[in-house]
Amino acid sequence: MTAEKTIAIIGAGPVGLAAAAHIMERGMTPVVLESGPEAGHAVRQWQHVQLFSPWEYNVDKAAGRLLAPTGWNSPDPDVYPTGAELLERYILPLATKTALRDVIKTQARVTAVGRAGFDKAKTKGREAAPFEIRYQNGKGPETLRADAVIDASGTWTSPNPAGAGGLPATGEREAAAQIAYGMPDVLGSERARYAGKTVGVLGAGHSAIGTLTDLAMLAQQVPGTRPLWLLRGTNPEKAFGGGANDKLAARGELGSHFAALVASGQVHIEAGFAVVAISQTEGKVRIATSSGCCGRSIVVDELIVATGFRPDLSFLSEIRLRLDPAIEAPVALAPLIDPNEHSCGTVRPHGARELAHDEPGFYLAGMKSYGRAPTFLMMTGYEQVRSIAADIAGDKQAAARVELVLPETGVCTRGGVESVAAVGCCGGPAKEEASACCAADESARKAGAAGCGCP
Ligand SMILES: Cc1cc2nc3c(=O)[nH]c(=O)nc-3n(C[C@H](O)[C@H](O)[C@H](O)COP(=O)(O)OP(=O)(O)OC[C@H]3O[C@@H](n4cnc5c(N)ncnc54)[C@H](O)[C@@H]3O)c2cc1C
Repeated sequence: MTAEKTIAIIGAGPVGLAAAAHIMERGMTPVVLESGPEAGHAVRQWQHVQLFSPWEYNVDKAAGRLLAPTGWNSPDPDVYPTGAELLERYILPLATKTALRDVIKTQARVTAVGRAGFDKAKTKGREAAPFEIRYQNGKGPETLRADAVIDASGTWTSPNPAGAGGLPATGEREAAAQIAYGMPDVLGSERARYAGKTVGVLGAGHSAIGTLTDLAMLAQQVPGTRPLWLLRGTNPEKAFGGGANDKLAARGELGSHFAALVASGQVHIEAGFAVVAISQTEGKVRIATSSGCCGRSIVVDELIVATGFRPDLSFLSEIRLRLDPAIEAPVALAPLIDPNEHSCGTVRPHGARELAHDEPGFYLAGMKSYGRAPTFLMMTGYEQVRSIAADIAGDKQAAARVELVLPETGVCTRGGVESVAAVGCCGGPAKEEASACCAADESARKAGAAGCGCP
């Protein structure tokens, strides 16, 4: 029965490819639709960035099994690759040297997904209808029919705007020529654009602090370069992370190194700076906290907006999604990753059950499954697609099994209160209870206490 199943996978990023490997291992036929010219097209855009997870966490197990017979040398598990190395040493060999090469269609942008003959409102017989996936390639519109769909198209193409309210700031679109989103390569391909300039970087996540760190290095090489950190919140320490307590050492070091750059004045801060309006002024960009006369404003040559990403749900309007209205992640997953509530970085591993919608056979996986939450790790995605492939194949036991323990960030947040946790305070991820911050919190509550105080 499974051999006859065709599974459409949207996106040939690390998670989409891992999904295809698991589907193939289960004897089903994957078809991977990738909008870019090659697999890993989104990773290519941030290829200059060094990952904070070492190889040990970046290779999916089923993908590794596909690669092994090709003479592939698995990379040293303790080494931290750049995005380019992730592509050259893993993603591209997987996509071009294994059986996956025959099932990946590049330059194939998915534009709509529905259920053949069933609009969203029609229920009777719906589950038996195949999925219809529309995509555009160089020749024009194409249609694929599939028994199940795994949407692993990431969020890289839909960055959040600069506007603090989630809408673009007034004038943001008009000033587009001097605004970049995500993580431009300020020390490499984009060096000329930023060298010797005052550059505002808006955001407080890894992308923002990574870019500011690179700009501080550029400032040492090219006098006149001035990195300016625009922070919506008032507490810069939140962005410094768990330091030595972070189980992903490189992620901890990035934060510690950045804290030193801020302390030494190599990165200037404008804290409590919620962007409302952007305007052009004599070849520069004025960024303001109010659209009227009052409020604060600063003038920069260039603005880099690193305020995170959101999922593009536009091509899923005919699918019965069940998404959390705030996080835009599947409803059972959202409480595990809601940054308003807790972010131990120790989210309980999850699979098909938590990723289910009111549309049997449809799954969001990878970065996109996290909606607007910023804490996604590749290895979480690999566990998701292992479970999803088992679910589609009808192996409910394997789908429900948990085969992953995630590393802690060393920073625990509950109810908006944040502190660096003592080593071992969290005791690893909560195993069962979605609302528990960590294992210690879960045990304390089971024992009748209010929680573990972490924190
Ligand atoms: C700068 C940066 C650094 C990161 N560092 C780490 C790290 O160190 N460790 C870690 O575990 N995680 C890291 N992440 C987070 C995450 O693991 C990566 O973003 C990872 O690439 C997500 O994999 P994915 O397959 O879900 O999505 P993506 O890699 O974004 O792949 C999605 C693919 O779908 C394609 N696509 C998009 N729309 C369509 C469409 N409509 N039709 C067809 N194809 C489409 C894209 O072209 C892309 O190839 C990092 C993320 C960023 C941005």
